[in-house]
Amino acid sequence: MAQTGSQSIVAAPAAPKKGNLYDVTRIQLDKAAKALNLDPDVYTILSQPKNELIINFPVRMDDGRYILFKGYRVQHNNILGPYKGGIRYHEEVSLDELKGLAAAMTWKSALQDIPFGGGKGGIKFNPRLHSKSELERITRRYTHALGNNIGPELDVPAPDVGTTAQMMVWIMDTYMNFSGAGEKNAVRRVVTGKTVTSGGSYGREAATGQGLVTCVTEWARNRKFNLNGATFIVQGFGNVGSWAAKLLSKMGATLVGVGDYKGYLANPEGMNPHKLSEHVAHTGSVEGYKGARPISRDEFFALECDLFIPAALELEIDEKEARALKCKVLVEGANGPTYPAAEAILAERGIDLLPDILVNSGGVTVSYYEWLQNKRSERWELEEVETRLEKQMSRTYRQVCDVAEERKVDYRTAAYVIALERIAKAYAERGIFP
Ligand code: GLU
Repeated sequence: MAQTGSQSIVAAPAAPKKGNLYDVTRIQLDKAAKALNLDPDVYTILSQPKNELIINFPVRMDDGRYILFKGYRVQHNNILGPYKGGIRYHEEVSLDELKGLAAAMTWKSALQDIPFGGGKGGIKFNPRLHSKSELERITRRYTHALGNNIGPELDVPAPDVGTTAQMMVWIMDTYMNFSGAGEKNAVRRVVTGKTVTSGGSYGREAATGQGLVTCVTEWARNRKFNLNGATFIVQGFGNVGSWAAKLLSKMGATLVGVGDYKGYLANPEGMNPHKLSEHVAHTGSVEGYKGARPISRDEFFALECDLFIPAALELEIDEKEARALKCKVLVEGANGPTYPAAEAILAERGIDLLPDILVNSGGVTVSYYEWLQNKRSERWELEEVETRLEKQMSRTYRQVCDVAEERKVDYRTAAYVIALERIAKAYAERGIFP
């Protein structure tokens, strides 16, 4: 008999029970729609995704048993281009979570003015509990079940929490295998975030962290703050958190606190993010790293620091955390890490907040570069990717600051306003069918 995948829930230690991400993104959308006086018809369209696909598919485990997995793909909006967004492997994946994340992708692409819409997918299971060959079969079976609901000009997945470049290559290869012989190489761009050998872009792996650091650099310039000698703490040490930490330490900033689903650590003298990354690569978490002492989640949020970078899962910062934080700026590497009530407290306390759709949009921006390179059969050098990304992130950052100032709104609302204006303009020009 089939079982549902998979086992125990591993939540962040003593983390509060999560709210509903979709409700939170609706609150953010409502605030920006009001500030912008958004056309009510466009608001109605954007308030729900276009498509919500749920698939249940069986996969054979190494021991011969079959497990039934639940997979999703939410396609939020495609007025500006193909649906675009990551695939998440996590045991807490749910439809409402993916609806919130898919909408965020629509705003992110529009904010960066790249010709993509927004989507997000995932499978509800814990990838840490499976072997490489099981992960391959799960990924390939999921791709097969999605079938022609994804495609290079229709919906283009990418990595997210719990997925890697290797998994993107399996998606590509599976999709290629049900494309015609003459089509195979033309469909390479059905997915981004691939390994470089299989058609990925140089610089894609570091892109989200690099984009985050460009935002921090712009913030520091505006606030006349010296990053050399600054201190920072990071929640989550996956792709985004580890790259952000490595790049910030190169600029002379010191990592004094870190945490993930297994626990939290501090060292006021600083931790070496390269060594910590190696530790995480070997053991799967920051736990047990020798260069720091274990602390509680509450102690982590109360650490003295200049920058706080949430780079783990959504909805980690509620009112209690917002009151405890001692940073000057909260830099949202993760998608949707902050509750609206927490945001109000941060504003009251004079802590700046750089919003997710701006801060982590370097990932999808370089995904777009990858998609373009594949489409044109080109290979851009790392330097070219980095230079383009930096220019694009800085420009968008300044646009957000300008709109925030003009309209007297916070950075998140300003970022939403820019995105929504672009989308509303496209609807105004094209009209709503029929
Ligand atoms: N999953 C990433 C995000 O949330 C990247 C999406 C992409 O590259 O399409 O932005």
